[in-house]
Amino acid sequence: MATPPEGRPAMPEYAFYCRPCKKPFTAAMTMAAHDKGVAPCPKCGKKREVEKRIAVAYVVTSKKS
Ligand SMILES: [Zn+2]
Repeated sequence: MATPPEGRPAMPEYAFYCRPCKKPFTAAMTMAAHDKGVAPCPKCGKKREVEKRIAVAYVVTSKKS
């Protein structure tokens, strides 16, 4: 994979919550991917019981300006 060029928007990081694991987690994914579904739980690997959280944070790479 190539390194994203400077100035390109970082991939948004979305917050999720896995109900069976009772574990909140975040995952970086494209807006399109988030629109279609959720990220798999890092603990159990399932998507079915994962719900979206409202909080959205943007991955910030070391910005020099
Ligand atoms: Zn889980």
